[in-house]
Parts: sequence; structure tokens; C-alpha cells
Amino acid sequence: MNKQTFDIAVIGGGVIGTAVAYYAAKAGRSVVLLEKDHIAAGTSGACDGFIIMQSKNPGPHLELAMESAALYRDLVAELDYDIEYQPKGGMIIIENDTQAALMQSHVAKQAASGLKVDILPIDEARRRELALAPDLWGATYCAADAQVNPVRLAQGFSRAARRHGADLRPGTAVTGLIADRGRVCGVTTAAGDIYCQYVVAAAGIWTPGLVRPLGLDLPIKPRRGQILVTEPLPPTIRHVLLCACYLVAKYRPQDLDPIERHNRLGVGLAVEQTADGGLLIGSTREFAGFDRATTLAGLEAVAAHARRLLPALASVNIIRSFAGLRPYTPDGLPVIGPAADIPGLIIAAGHEGDGIALSPVTGRRIADLLK
Ligand SMILES: Cc1cc2nc3c(=O)[nH]c(=O)nc-3n(C[C@H](O)[C@H](O)[C@H](O)COP(=O)(O)OP(=O)(O)OC[C@H]3O[C@@H](n4cnc5c(N)ncnc54)[C@H](O)[C@@H]3O)c2cc1C
Repeated sequence: MNKQTFDIAVIGGGVIGTAVAYYAAKAGRSVVLLEKDHIAAGTSGACDGFIIMQSKNPGPHLELAMESAALYRDLVAELDYDIEYQPKGGMIIIENDTQAALMQSHVAKQAASGLKVDILPIDEARRRELALAPDLWGATYCAADAQVNPVRLAQGFSRAARRHGADLRPGTAVTGLIADRGRVCGVTTAAGDIYCQYVVAAAGIWTPGLVRPLGLDLPIKPRRGQILVTEPLPPTIRHVLLCACYLVAKYRPQDLDPIERHNRLGVGLAVEQTADGGLLIGSTREFAGFDRATTLAGLEAVAAHARRLLPALASVNIIRSFAGLRPYTPDGLPVIGPAADIPGLIIAAGHEGDGIALSPVTGRRIADLLK
């Protein structure tokens, strides 16, 4: 007979739920993690692995990211599992004067928040990243940017959580939340009810559906991103790479010309070379409900954009593609903390395109809250 009473029940085995389980178990709490499918079955298994500081908005967003980056440095040893962490630095590609003005103002605000980002003319940028097209304006460079393998990260968190005593239950869907006199005190599953002091809802895009029966309306919705995967290549891309229009597609899509297909699909370049040598080339930003299909229009637009900025990729073979659903929130910030007016319920969701970067700080802050 399984144990059915814990201090904390975490719903969701993505990077956020596993990070919460890890930090809470490490702090000595009894934890059960409930995942309807398998670890990293959701968005955390269908994304890039950027731990990028310079794309974050100065303010709470950047502060969370910088706190997370500091935790990453310890995690590599703490998790005792190869998460393919590579502190390789990042660049944001600048195409023209308009984007340069946008980036100069962004970089100045980041400097005021303590993040060092350099602006490089194209010759210097190409010296550091050979694949860049010669007719671009230049690029920013930030040494604090890094990369990780998101699936291995979720596996690393969950294995380390188990070593600290957490009970991991893949293949266990939560079908409802149990409340007693207004306080959440457990969850229902096909394998029986589980009782706990706190429930942490870390189910990414599925979180609103879980908490809605309690009258909580979370503004999280799926925002699709499509990615191309190349054959394994010799070292080709040295940094994690974004383009300046990625920032506009992410934070200010209303500023884009809605007629251009590229803009309609919210295309912003994101390229990384993974540990096995393959490149991940992304991505779109589309509201398509819960549809995780790739589309020809989306993949073509991503490929055309990558080819323009990185012409060296024109002859590379694409071997597959996939799409993932970012947990979007209207203000671009995750929802982390106790649910207002529902004691016992904690939310850790809505990380949009930043959940990999922000998973350590989210897990750590939730665990601190529940001490
Ligand atoms: C194309 C793309 C590129 C991205 N690139 C980056 C990047 O470079 N850097 C970055 O920081 N972020 C990136 N992201 C964002 C990042 O992937 C997400 O923010 C993060 O994975 C969200 O993690 P999560 O744990 O909240 O959600 P998920 O990984 O979706 O985990 C939620 C889990 O809950 C489970 N679940 C749902 N309902 C139930 C239930 N009823 N009972 C039990 N389990 C349930 C699901 O099966 C799932 O495994 C990207 C996303 C996309 C789509």
C-alpha cells in the first residue's frame, strides 16, 4: 500500500515541478510528485535550453533570472547528473539601425540592473561567431548566458529529489483538488486520494484547468513554438543565439507589421548547438490552442529567417521538427506563490519561454515558502 500522506504534493513533472520537488525534499519536507505521463512529457521536453539573461526585461524578470543563474552553478555538482550545462555566452543578432536603437536602450537598462552586456559591431561579432552574415549591423554579447539540456535537467532534478526522499509517481494524473472548509488539503487520483499540507500546482499550460473548479482563473494560455533540428555537425555555433526581433515577437508583438508572414507567426531566431552536435533552430510564437502540430508555413518561416542571418546553415540537413507550447502570461511574468484566498494551494506556472532558465529559482523560492 502506497503512503498517501505528505507535507507537499507537487502536480507536474516538468522542469518546474521537479525543481520544486528537489528543493523541498532537500529542505527535509516529505514530497510526492504526481505526473500524468512521464518526466518532461510536456513543454519541458519540447523546447530549447537557453539560460539566457540578456533577453529578460530589467526588473523582477531579470532579477529572477540572475538569481537562477547563480543557483545553476551549484546545481551542476549538486544534481550529480550530466545536465549538459554549457556556460558558453550568448549573442542577440542586430540587423539594422532600428533594432540597434532598441538594443542600446535595452542594454542600458540591463546595465543599471547589474548585467554586463556588450554591443559589438558586425566585424567583431563575426570574429566571435563565424556563421553570422556579413551584412548585419552587429550583435550584443553577454558572458552570463548559458545552455542546458532541458530533459536531462528535469531528470536530474527528479533523481536528486528521490535521493532526498521524494516519492515520484509518473503515470499518475491528478483528477481533482480536495478542499476542506476552504483549505486545499489533497488531490484525487485513480490510485486513491493523497493528503498533504500544501499542493503545488506546477502543471504548466494545464494549471488553469486544475485550479478552475476552485474559482481561480489563471491567465495562462499555450503559445506554440516550432523548432527545426539538424543532423549532428562539427562545432558550428559557439554561443546561444537570438535575434533582436525575437524580443519584439516575445514582448511587443503588437509593434510588428501584421501583414508579413514572418511577423504573423511571431518568428524570432533562437539557435543553439546541443551536446550531440545537432542544431536546434527556432522558433515561432503562435496562439494555436493546445495544438502541438508543426506547420509548413511555420517551419518555412523559421528556416528562411535562419538562412538570412546565418547563411552558413543553408546547406545543413534538417532531420526533424517539433513544436512545444509555452505557458504564456499577459505580463510576461510567471505566477509563483500562494493562491490568493485559497490556503494550502501554491502556484508555480506560467513561465512562457523562460521556464528552463527560471526553474532553479522557482523551485528554491517555493521550497523556502513552505519551510
Ligand atoms: C519552442 C520553445 C522553446 C523554448 N525555449 C526555452 C529556452 O530556451 N529557455 C527557457 O528558459 N525556456 C524555454 N521555453 C519555455 C520552457 O520550455 C517552459 O517554460 C517550461 O518547460 C515549462 O515547464 P513546466 O514544468 O511549467 O511545464 P511542463 O514541462 O509542461 O510540465 C507540466 C507537466 O504537468 C503534467 N500534468 C499536466 N496535467 C497534469 C495532471 N492533471 N496530473 C499530473 N500531471 C499533469 C504534464 O504532463 C507535464 O509533464 C521554450 C518553450 C518552447 C515551447
